[in-house]
Amino acid sequence: MYVSAMPHLRAATDALWEPSTNPASVAVFTTVLTRQPVSRAEIARLTGLSGAGVTKTARPFLAAGYFTESASGADGIASGPGRPTSPLAIHADREYFIGVKVTGDEVIGVVTDLRAEVRTAAHRPLESTEPGAVADAIASIVKDLRGRDLVYQNRCRSLGLAVAGDVDRRTGLVRYSPFLDWHDIPLGDMLGRATGLTTVVENDVKALAIAEWWFGEGAGSDSFALVTVGSGIGGALMLNGGMVAGSYGVAGEIGHLPVSGEEAVCQCGGRGCLETIASERAIVARVRDGVGDPDLTMTEAVRLARDGDPAAHAAFDEAGHAIGLALATVATLVGPELIIVSGEGLAAYDLFADQVQRTFTANAFGAAGRCALVVRPLPFEEWARGAAAASIQALFSPTRH
Ligand SMILES: [Zn+2]
Repeated sequence: MYVSAMPHLRAATDALWEPSTNPASVAVFTTVLTRQPVSRAEIARLTGLSGAGVTKTARPFLAAGYFTESASGADGIASGPGRPTSPLAIHADREYFIGVKVTGDEVIGVVTDLRAEVRTAAHRPLESTEPGAVADAIASIVKDLRGRDLVYQNRCRSLGLAVAGDVDRRTGLVRYSPFLDWHDIPLGDMLGRATGLTTVVENDVKALAIAEWWFGEGAGSDSFALVTVGSGIGGALMLNGGMVAGSYGVAGEIGHLPVSGEEAVCQCGGRGCLETIASERAIVARVRDGVGDPDLTMTEAVRLARDGDPAAHAAFDEAGHAIGLALATVATLVGPELIIVSGEGLAAYDLFADQVQRTFTANAFGAAGRCALVVRPLPFEEWARGAAAASIQALFSPTRH
């Protein structure tokens, strides 16, 4: 139960507050966001700040209504409202965030609260992937979502966009997106102008990884990798508590690790990339060749493999082997605690899961192989939620990037 002491009630108007982003504020905010309700003593222990430092840093968050004090601690011992011993929690309804995921054929938008919980969602088909048409569809879905509740109008200033491919988060530029066939599109500027919202553009898998890091399988882990399997293969690396973007923003693109000696040409122009063997398109192409049916669909390929067709089975085995090699490379190179495997291709994951694990175990070097592989189904709206999480991060802890 949360107590709204009078000062918080007065402060919790629609006026949005500009949070401080000094390292102590970022650490306290992130700790309360991911551990709430959490006592000041526990925050001090987790962040290395002094007790007085935590109290001082939390004060403006409380005054602006972004933190609230719960009436009793996790141990159930009641304390007076507003006393420094009360655990701190996030006031989820203090501010709202919009996240939009752009795919090749639709845009998916959500409104989340400050805890990145989805409050409402919308889908809109894309008639064209021409940048202006996609920007119009995003602007329209944002208008629709904000129009659903007055508080979404008044307490929302941030928009997060998640797009597959090479995205420069600092400038909002989509440098290259294979599914949209985009090169150097200033999507952040376009949507900032169209919506009036502060707009952050993030690679879709990195956006998903932020939500997983704060609230999902990656919670409490300093180092993990997220790999998404489906029409493409995406990856994000979280190391020592920070997302690895690399010098050029594209670090972690596991789908383009050259794992094959074969010469298949990838959409990116490279040869032998993981995607040329283990993306849905690659698997379907192999099964088509194997069974001599040029019109075979992924659903039919999955059914054939489940029925024991040797050609279909071999295609999934090869995909599993290639994914296992790529994951072993990641584990050997950076040594994450766990690798989360997700994506729309998970419906067929049972067909290559054993092979992924076998190849991974055989190839990860020494203790790096202790890294656990965790399979996590995530519905499409989770990607949009990830985009909203990226916008929360951009507002409260921009130093993370
Ligand atoms: Zn490639």
